[in-house]
Amino acid sequence: MTTTHFEVLPGVDERRRAAIRGVSRWISPGVDCSNCERQWLVIGPSYPTRSLIGCEYEPLCRSGKNLPFADFDVVRASLSERTGIEEILPGTNIGPLVGALSGEQREIVWVSVWQFLFRRDVWKMLARAGLQGIEVADAELVTADSTEALSYCEPELYPGFSVAAPRLCSTCGFRELARPSVIRVSNPLGDAEPSIGRLASSPSVIIANAAFKEICSNTGIVGFEFRPIS
Ligand SMILES: [Zn+2]
Repeated sequence: MTTTHFEVLPGVDERRRAAIRGVSRWISPGVDCSNCERQWLVIGPSYPTRSLIGCEYEPLCRSGKNLPFADFDVVRASLSERTGIEEILPGTNIGPLVGALSGEQREIVWVSVWQFLFRRDVWKMLARAGLQGIEVADAELVTADSTEALSYCEPELYPGFSVAAPRLCSTCGFRELARPSVIRVSNPLGDAEPSIGRLASSPSVIIANAAFKEICSNTGIVGFEFRPIS
């Protein structure tokens, strides 16, 4: 069977050669659920092109607080309306990445295994090579030693890839956060499938299709490991 989708991970040695210390400007609150007694947030969802400037919950989203689920539900409805993000999960990163880079100014730099930036010139090259349908936002990134501003951007990776996942708590919607042992991509979007996105049930997992891998290969981009999943 032809491999159509790949899990995207940092290439060998990438995280040793360059490291970013930084966070997204805002993060939606975590949940403290009185039903299942879990305090939780998800790892991975990131919407760098969105802004909370002028939003009444902007200060709250700088605090990293957990809220009782009923309060979270009110906040997420407001954040969703403000940002256009369909599903605000507890721990959703919003706004540009703000941070400092140490090491080499690589083509791709990884903040963590679930978040990476393109060097601007590399992003332009990929766009010229035919990569479409992905929005990016400039990161507010400086070098760790000289505070020189660097030109990197973060792609907005939608949770457009899905696998069946149980909903464990009927109140707060707590879901199994562990990476599924077998990933089979089912994609209701058809032709609208993103060339690179996140797994909806485990947003820390980045998935790309064969077209994305081919563009990276044609342009000589290093920095990604593509692990076949189907
Ligand atoms: Zn719960």
